Amino acid sequence: MNFIPHSKPTVGKAEADAVAEVIRSSMLAQGQRVDEFERLFAQRFELGQAVAVGSGTAGLHLALLALGVGPGDDVIIPSFVCTALLNAVCYVGAQANVADIRLDTFNIDPVDVRKRITARTKAIIVPHMFGQAADLRGLKDIGLPIIEDCAQAVGARYAKRPVGSFGDLSVFSFYATKVMTTGEGGMVSSHDPFLIEKVRDARAYDNRSEYSIRFNYKMTDIQAAMGIVQLERLKSFLKKRKTLADTYTALFLEESDSRLSLPLGVEEHTYFRYVVRIERNIGKICENLRDLAFGTARPVFKPIHRYLTREGFPKTDQAWETTISLPIYPELKIEDVKRIAKAFIGQLE
Ligand SMILES: *Cc1c(COP(=O)(O)O)cnc(C)c1O
Repeated sequence: MNFIPHSKPTVGKAEADAVAEVIRSSMLAQGQRVDEFERLFAQRFELGQAVAVGSGTAGLHLALLALGVGPGDDVIIPSFVCTALLNAVCYVGAQANVADIRLDTFNIDPVDVRKRITARTKAIIVPHMFGQAADLRGLKDIGLPIIEDCAQAVGARYAKRPVGSFGDLSVFSFYATKVMTTGEGGMVSSHDPFLIEKVRDARAYDNRSEYSIRFNYKMTDIQAAMGIVQLERLKSFLKKRKTLADTYTALFLEESDSRLSLPLGVEEHTYFRYVVRIERNIGKICENLRDLAFGTARPVFKPIHRYLTREGFPKTDQAWETTISLPIYPELKIEDVKRIAKAFIGQLE
């Protein structure tokens, strides 16, 4: 039986042609394709202005710098997320102030955030986990600057508007296995011309009359050419993901009982990940499923508070111990989903 990987990019001839055209033009670095990608991306998601960067992590770094976050400050981030957020906070010399999540959405919990605010808190980074928007209303009410981390949620919506259009700054990632990809890459956006100018200025170092610390965080035209094609295909990607997710959900509802907590199935979920929670530790189940020829993963490799050896994050601990991410990507077949769902339910016996 063919092994079904946990995640897989959807790229083909259209991307190859667009990239080949850039290569033949000999204009490889940041240029017209990047300008065009930024413009199309900002328009599509109502983002104000957008600045393309080399990765989502670079984007988070520049967003924190634009807000003036530095040594002596702290930044609130959720625990149930990858270490990219912790890295960005450390890059600017600030402290990570870690918050717990809500178990129904796996997103940062505004109620817990309020308890952790200090006099030094300068911003909240809000990832929309697995393709479902966080509680932006509850978070914005707090009144601190918000960086939306849309790395997993391109195309997702909240209150009828695209995610990324709410934050003081927003960051996207186009890493290979994200919903749309440029291999590596990212985007920062803002409706505030002053903030976005700071991001644009810090992205590149060349030809400046005065010195200040700047970075080489540029995207290449090669990547942007691919991004433009992926953006055109995004709608079809999201449609396919939704169909696959609905198939999983229907099969699980049919065959199983209260042993499984399924995604809420909100209309605007984009299913970057199909994450299920079960009533026991998933470690062994992941191993068994690998033997049955498909890949699964913990949706978060290890929570931030565990790296920092902090305690008091019960929801994150529970999510980490009991959630599993099943394969979902546009090239996955309905038959694959059926096979995976059946094998997974078999493991619950
Ligand atoms: C992938 C990801 C990032 C980092 O993006 P890179 O492009 O890999 O640097 C940041 N935040 C979240 C939530 C992610 O999923």
